[in-house]
Formats: sequence, structure tokens, C-alpha cells
Amino acid sequence: MKSIYGPVQSRRLGFSLGISLTPHKTCSFDCVYCQLGASARRTRERKPYVPVEDVLAELRAWLADNAALAGKLDYVTLSGSGEPVLHSGIGQIIAGIKALTAIPVCLITNSSLLVDAAVRKSILGADVIIPSLDAATQDIFERIDRPMPGIQVEDIIAALVALRKEYAGRIWLEVMLVKGINDSREHIKLLAQTVKRIGPDKCQLTSPVRCTAEKDIFPVERGAMESFCALIGGVCEVY
Ligand code: SF4
Repeated sequence: MKSIYGPVQSRRLGFSLGISLTPHKTCSFDCVYCQLGASARRTRERKPYVPVEDVLAELRAWLADNAALAGKLDYVTLSGSGEPVLHSGIGQIIAGIKALTAIPVCLITNSSLLVDAAVRKSILGADVIIPSLDAATQDIFERIDRPMPGIQVEDIIAALVALRKEYAGRIWLEVMLVKGINDSREHIKLLAQTVKRIGPDKCQLTSPVRCTAEKDIFPVERGAMESFCALIGGVCEVY
């Protein structure tokens, strides 16, 4: 399995080299807005979907072959075709990347596996963690993220609160807003309280702009996003 993709230019991360650690759409969620398409099978199974050494060898070769491009990179980002924290060797992969290059490492995660303290410990080497949190209540969580049975949003929120205490790096909490699902003012107020509880360095509001897993998934207008951002306050930004 080829793990590296890009580099790509992104609004948040600048020039970023992506590393995917799972087969296509391997995830504990099946979000209505997922750009990877519908999920045939959700999973919570953590395992070495691709050998750690293969990932690191691929990166080592890429860095050697693309020295000029590598010099321009802002981040090496663990994301891609599924939930990267499902890879049981993610801690070794982060440490291995740090041994190969000084380029900061960013991890994008759906947050669901962070309920396990050992999993949280394994990702502490990342420079930036972008966990997502789309809902402050279980019913909205289930409507928008369609998690595997048994995953509770309150457990995820508690895990993010714990991560904030344990992790010295930057946490940029991502909230995807979908029209008619999680964008009521009442829900945004609950999210604002939740963001305060977690205490991220940034809270980034976004809305689907590309193709989504389900039809009839619509973005929230920019003006509404700005007003929600004001409700959430200081650390919040729309991007
Ligand atoms: S968490 Fe990410 S990969 Fe998983 S279903 Fe949602 S958008 Fe897709």
C-alpha cells in the first residue's frame, strides 16, 4: 500500500505532505459529509494496516528524492483515506517521522479512539493535533457522524479535555457544520460551552464544500458561520 500523497496546498496547513495509514475509508464513523464516499464497513479495530517500517521507508525515499520540495513543506500530515489513529503503530510512526525530518507533524483525527488513555499517550509526539468534534449531544452526533454503536460523544469530549491536560502541543479543534443537522443556535451554544471545557488553541468552523457521502448535504452560509464563531468566542475562526 502506498502511503504518501501530495504535497497539497491547504488553507489550514499551508504546503503539506500527506501520509495515509489505512486502506480506503477505514473508519469508526460514516459521516454524512465524508469526501471518501459511503462507508461499506465501519471499524474500531486497531492494527498495523501498513507496516510501520514501510511507511517510514517510503517517507525516507520521498525526502531523499524531493529535497527541494521537502524544504518548502510546512507539515507532514497523518490523515488521508481513513482514521489514522486506527493504526496501532501511530506512536512509532510519529517518532519515526521526527527522527527523519524536522518538518512539523500534524495529526488529523475523528477523536473517537482518544477515549483510551494509552492511545492519547501514543500521539503526544505530534506538533499539532486536529481532532474533530461535530456535536455536543448524542443524537446530533449520531445523525452527523454515524459512529459505530457504543461510541458516546460525552466520552469523546472527556477524552479531549484529558488530551488538553496531557498534551503540550497545539490543538486545533475542527467543527464541521452541516445545514439542518448541527447548525441550530441552541446546539451552537452547547458546542460553545464544550469548546470552553476542552480549551483548544483554536476552534475551526468549516462546512462541506466538496462532494459528500450523502446527497442533499448543504453547507452553512458564511454569515451564519461568522455569527456562530462570535458565539464560541476568542479561539474560534471560520475557514
Ligand atoms: S471521520 Fe473522516 S474519514 Fe471517517 S467518515 Fe468522517 S469524514 Fe470520513
